[in-house]
Amino acid sequence: MPDCIFCKIISGEIPSAKVYEDDVVIAFLDIHPITQGHTLVMPKTHHADLLEVPQDVLQAAVARIPKIARAVMAGVGATSFNVGVNSGKASGQIIFHLHFHIIPRGGRDDNLKPWGSREYQTGQIEEIAEKIRQKFSNS
Ligand code: 5GP
Ligand code: ZN
Repeated sequence: MPDCIFCKIISGEIPSAKVYEDDVVIAFLDIHPITQGHTLVMPKTHHADLLEVPQDVLQAAVARIPKIARAVMAGVGATSFNVGVNSGKASGQIIFHLHFHIIPRGGRDDNLKPWGSREYQTGQIEEIAEKIRQKFSNS
């Protein structure tokens, strides 16, 4: 995809701190890390997001995550990691080439706070669950 910055990194047109590459995926460090070693893993083929990627490509990319995450954790002295995927503008996705964030946790620079949580009002959890269930039977 000509205007995609990640495609340009994959082709070598734009440099990156690459840590891993094989026939399916590439992994390089995020230039604005949440924690040190924050790594982006993505298919080498261009797919905008999780809804667009073919299932075989998705499966192959996800299958690589444990191997890459182990090396990332070991490399930065982390004990845990988060995997994140932003899908769609409102989620915070800014680069529309599907990628997984591997965010090392438990290292020296980890001062992240948990996401906040809310309470459901009485009956609301079942109401919302039913609306979602109906979408499966409609599709
Ligand atoms: P998104 O918000 O789309 O899920 O995440 C995009 C990520 O790509 C951001 O965390 C951002 O810091 C990172 N990023 C944006 N441009 C570049 C770049 O040119 N090189 C690298 N290595 N990371 C980038
Ligand atoms: Zn791309």
